[in-house]
Amino acid sequence: MKRSIPLYLSIPCKAIENHSCIEALQAAAELGVSRMWLDVQNQEDITRIEEISHTLPLGVVAVIDDSSLIDDVLRMGVSGIAVQPFCVEELLRHRDELIEQGSSVYLCMRGVGGRSFETFFSLLNEVALRYEKLKRAGIQNLFVHISHPDPVILFNASKMMKERFGTHHLISQKQSRGREKNLLRNSLILGSLFYEGIGEALLLQPSSGESDSEKEVGDAITLAKKVLGSCKLFPRGYTIISCPTCGRCRMDLLKMTVAIDRKLKALEERYNRQGKQLEDIGGIAVAVMGCNVNGPGEARNADIGIAGKKNKTGILFKNGKPFKTLPEGKLVDELIAHTEAIIDCKFESSRC
Ligand code: SF4
Repeated sequence: MKRSIPLYLSIPCKAIENHSCIEALQAAAELGVSRMWLDVQNQEDITRIEEISHTLPLGVVAVIDDSSLIDDVLRMGVSGIAVQPFCVEELLRHRDELIEQGSSVYLCMRGVGGRSFETFFSLLNEVALRYEKLKRAGIQNLFVHISHPDPVILFNASKMMKERFGTHHLISQKQSRGREKNLLRNSLILGSLFYEGIGEALLLQPSSGESDSEKEVGDAITLAKKVLGSCKLFPRGYTIISCPTCGRCRMDLLKMTVAIDRKLKALEERYNRQGKQLEDIGGIAVAVMGCNVNGPGEARNADIGIAGKKNKTGILFKNGKPFKTLPEGKLVDELIAHTEAIIDCKFESSRC
C-alpha cells in the first residue's frame, strides 16, 4: 500500500500570538502540514493557546517537560502530547482521556547527544519497555521521537528500535543555514530512514527563532516535500529524473535541468491558480538524460523525457516513445509545450 507521511511543524509557543505567525501557519496548512508542535512550559502558555485556539488552522501537539501540565493540556483537547519517556505513570493515569480523545503520544528522547554509546543504547531499551507498557494499556497512537546530533547513531538507534520492538517513529527535519547543506543533510538522513520504512510522521523544524516567518516555513515544507516525494512518500506535482552525466554527455545537462525545473514550477503554479493540482492526476514524471545509451530507458518510463545525442542534439520521448530529434537549444521549450499537453490530457481523462 502507498504510504503518505504526515507533516508537522514546530513553532515557538509565544509566536502564535503574532499575526505573521498565524499567516505562516495558514500557508503551512494549505501546503499539507496537519499539526503544529508547540513547546508548552507553563500555565501561561496553556492560556495563550486556549485564547487563540479557534484561529489556529492546525491540530496542536503540546510538548511538555513538566508532567503536572498533562491534566490541563488534555483538557484543551489537543491532537497529541509529547513528553519525556519517563512520564509513563502520569500518562497511564490519563489513559481513558487519551483513548477517548484519540490523542497521539510522543515519547521524546531529547538531550541524549552527550551520552556514551552504551548508555544511549540502554536508554533506548528503557524507552522501548515504556512504549510497550503504554501499548498494552490500549494507547495505540504511540511514537518515539529521537533527537541525536549524529545522523549515523540516529539511524542505527531508530532501526534497532523498529526491528526489535516494532516502535513507530516521528522523524525530525532540522533546517540549518545554506540551501545546499540543508538539502544534502536532510536527503541523507530522511532518505535513509524512510527507505528502511522507519518514520510514520515528519516534524519540520525551521531555523531556530524564525519559525514564525512565512518564508522560513515555506522553505522547510518545500524541502520536506522534495525529499519525501523522491521516496514516493508524499504526492508530488512533478518529478525530474536526471542523470549525473559522464563522458558520454554532449549537452549542458545541468543548465537544461535547472531551466526545466524552473519552467515546470511556473507551469504547476499556473495550474494551481486555476484550482488544479497536479497531484490529483498522479503527478508528472520528466526524465532529463545525457545520452542515448542509458538515457532512453529512463525517458521511456517517464511521461516525457530527453535523451542526449551526438552533435548537441537530443531525442524527445513522449508517453514511452521517441518522438523527435531537436537541437539542444530547442529541447527545453518543446519539452515544456508537450508536458502541458500531457497534463491537459490527464485532467481531461480524469473527468471521465
Ligand atoms: Fe552518462 Fe548517459 Fe548515464 Fe547520463 S545517461 S550518466 S550521460 S551514460
